[in-house]
This record gives sequence, C-alpha cells and structure tokens, in this order.
Amino acid sequence: ATPMALLVGTGRGAQLGILIRGPEVLESTRRAQVVVLDKTGTVTAGRMSVVDVRPASGPAAAGATAGEVLRLAGAVEAASEHPIAQAIAAAARVTEPDGSAPAVPVVTDFVALPGLGAAGTVDGRRVLVGQARLLAERGVPVDEDLAVWQAATEAAGRTVVLVAWGPAPVQTPEPDDASGPGAAGAPGAPGAPGAASAAGDGAGPRARGAVVVADTVRPSAAGAVAALRGLGLRPMLVTGDAEPVARAVAAEVGIDAADVVAGVLPAGKVETVRGLQAQGLVVAMLGDGVNDAPALARADLGLAMGTGSDVAIEAGDLVLVGGDPTSAADAIRLSRATLRTIR
Ligand code: ADP
Ligand code: MG
Repeated sequence: ATPMALLVGTGRGAQLGILIRGPEVLESTRRAQVVVLDKTGTVTAGRMSVVDVRPASGPAAAGATAGEVLRLAGAVEAASEHPIAQAIAAAARVTEPDGSAPAVPVVTDFVALPGLGAAGTVDGRRVLVGQARLLAERGVPVDEDLAVWQAATEAAGRTVVLVAWGPAPVQTPEPDDASGPGAAGAPGAPGAPGAASAAGDGAGPRARGAVVVADTVRPSAAGAVAALRGLGLRPMLVTGDAEPVARAVAAEVGIDAADVVAGVLPAGKVETVRGLQAQGLVVAMLGDGVNDAPALARADLGLAMGTGSDVAIEAGDLVLVGGDPTSAADAIRLSRATLRTIR
C-alpha cells in the first residue's frame, strides 16, 4: 500500500535481505497469528518440469498420441507466462530423437485463464490446457480412465494438466474440412461456457490426454514452516492447485492437512485471508505470484518473495529479497526485536 520501499533496522535487515515498507509494518509483525503460505513459487521452487505425457485411451483419444498432446499443449502454453506453461512449452521444443527440432505450431486467439489454464486455436482445433475445474466449467468431458489416473498421479504430489480439444469455432467459411455434426457443438468465444453438446461423438471438445508437471519443494521450506510455528504463528497453505497435490506438499513441509486450502482461484486467496480476519485473526500472507498480489495487499502483513512478480513485490509490506521463505521468520523476528528497541 505504501509506494516507496524503505529500509528499517538497516544494518541487520540489509544483511538478511529484508526490505520493510515503513515503520507501521513492525506492529503487524508483532500481532500476526496466522501465516498463509502460497504453494507454487513460494513453498515450492516454482521451477516446473514435464515428467510424463499421457494420451487418453479409447475413443476419447481419437488417435491422439503423446507427441500430439504435448505438441498442441506446448503451442498454446508458449503464449503464456505461467511457470507450468513455460515447462510445457519447453518440453514441446525439445529436439526429436532423430535430431530434428519439432516445429512449434502457431497459436491464434490465445487467452490466459488465471488460476485455471489457457486456451488457443492450433491447426484448426480449439485447444484447452489446464486443470480439471476448467474443463468441468466448460462442460468438456474427461474419460473415467483418465480421471482415475489423474487422481492417483495427484495423490503422489504431481500436478496434472489436462489437454482438451475439439473443432475450432467457425469464424469464416473454410473451403475444406467440413467437420460434420461435431462443429455445431464446438465452443464459441473463448470464454463461452458449456460448450459440450457434441460431447459424445468424439469430434466435439473433450480431454485427449494430459501432461504431468513436477515441482520441487524448496529445501528450506520445512525449516521455514517450523521457524514460523516457533514464533507462535499457525502456518496454512493456499493454492490454486488440486487438493491431493496441496496435501502432499503440506505433509512434506509440516503443515496440517486441516490447514490446506486448495483449488482456489486468485480471488479465492483474498477470500481465504478475509475469512480468517473475520474470525478475528491477524493474518500474514507469504506469496510470489501475480495471483497472490490481492491477498498480499489484503493481509495484515504481506510478505512478498523478492524473486516473485513485480505486482506481488509492489503489494508486499515486507520484501524477502533473496526469495528464501526462511527469511519470513527472520523478518518477523527482526521486526519484533526492532519494535522492542524503539519502545
Ligand atoms: P498457485 O496458486 O499454486 O500459485 P495458480 O493459481 O497459478 O497456482 O494455478 C492454479 C492451477 O491452475 C495450477 O495448478 C494448474 O493446474 C492450473 N493452471 C493455471 N495456469 C495454467 C496454465 N497456463 N497451464 C496449465 N495449467 C494452468
Ligand atoms: Mg505462487
């Protein structure tokens, strides 16, 4: 909220790589009772990599191979800045076994769907890439086989990105390729809800496969959580990712399963903070992403990862320059000590 970054407790703060945006922040560090931690990029390194690609089986696949799933997903994701998107785009660009570089197809009508995924038109197909909720919202069917495999994969802490496609919406009459009855059920505008009337015929939009991305928990994250607990704060985990993935990460860093809030849209992070405040709690939030900025601003104490996006840094009361979550505990300890000195 305060425009200029100001360094308080200079010597020690600078040494620890902590920027404090104004003296009033010190008071919030004293009062904070709960610390809400963002998952991706905060508790985890946010450096995703593709570990598996799976085509749907049976009629849903409609002949799609793992290569085709990755190629189309990569084409759409190349236009997105999300860490998952960058991982998928990079994997799609990896050189073929025969040494040739695959041509990345051109994407048109790209739309980023924050907290959900992305969409674009590639090779005359409307491609949707993202989490299960995105497909559910648009009425795009996912085969049971794929859904069962997805649940098992997520339980192991891996993020599953579904890849769906169907005929592209007809904008100008195409000379060739009349898509038959399926074309009538194709999604209209990118944001059009419930576009699945052609669901059953194999030509309409449906999940054709999935890409599995893995992220690694930061080595210092468990220690950071323990240190925050030691300062009397209750750690919680909030993420737009699926519940099983969130729970696996929480278990790894020592956050109680009951304190995990998963599957939330960017606005849901603000709601989480607001909900805790409504219970009379003083809330600190630690985050890095564009998605975290509103929650950082809403929190009584916004802790921004210095390695995060500019909007997040701008929204933080306290900036952890090195992007190490352990600095959150250091910052709170230092601020409290500074406060005692002032008084
Ligand atoms: P987090 O809250 O963990 O930082 P986001 O809110 O950015 O995560 O995204 C939530 C979920 O939405 C991701 O875990 C992923 O399943 C999906 N998602 C978001 N953007 C994309 C994208 N560009 N490509 C694929 N999936 C995406
Ligand atoms: Mg994040």
